[in-house]
Amino acid sequence: MKILIVEDEAKLAQVLHKGLKESGYIADWADDGELGLAMAREGTFDAIILDVMLPKLDGFEVLRELRKAGSTVPILMLTARSGVDDRIRGLDLGADDYLPKPFDFKELLARLRAVTRRPAVELRDVLKVADLELDLQSREVRRGGDLINLTAKESVLLEYLMSRKGLALTRAMILENVWASDEVYDGGSNLVEVYINFLRKKIDHGRPLKLIHTLRGVGYTMQEHD
Ligand code: CA
Repeated sequence: MKILIVEDEAKLAQVLHKGLKESGYIADWADDGELGLAMAREGTFDAIILDVMLPKLDGFEVLRELRKAGSTVPILMLTARSGVDDRIRGLDLGADDYLPKPFDFKELLARLRAVTRRPAVELRDVLKVADLELDLQSREVRRGGDLINLTAKESVLLEYLMSRKGLALTRAMILENVWASDEVYDGGSNLVEVYINFLRKKIDHGRPLKLIHTLRGVGYTMQEHD
């Protein structure tokens, strides 16, 4: 899942960014309201963590603009502890939930899970493709019962491939959904190929049934048959 953080306090944003990454999310960061609104409009985010007090455009304005444009992306607002009016205003404008500062990171994760609740079919705790399993809570990956150690990024890539089993996924789609924008700029153009190869070595190497398939000229797909 990809989360946009709109927060001007660099320290807090860094804590959020790091914590989300460690919890298996992809996180992008905007440090003012204008940039946040632009990124929210252009990107495909599963949720937005939106601070109220922001330079250029405050959180309420960002929220209002997004909802006015028809966006239904779940929005979790960060408000001041005492700001009861802020919370009411935010909820009235279409925020899904709010979290008073300062907050416990575990509570933020719980709120985030609550606002990003997906339809029942996507709520499965374990993704399965043939004998490959990814436990979404523990992040454990097994193939034929053998535990496979993945890096955080490999695990996010695997989750993306498994949750879209049988679909043709272009390199652009994979990049957009698995990497944050700052990571893409650092990574070079063959980032997807490189990570697909890492995954293949760990998931498919030495096994008669290959699960990751190259679609020539298109990208990749994960499926149980050739
Ligand atoms: Ca702020």
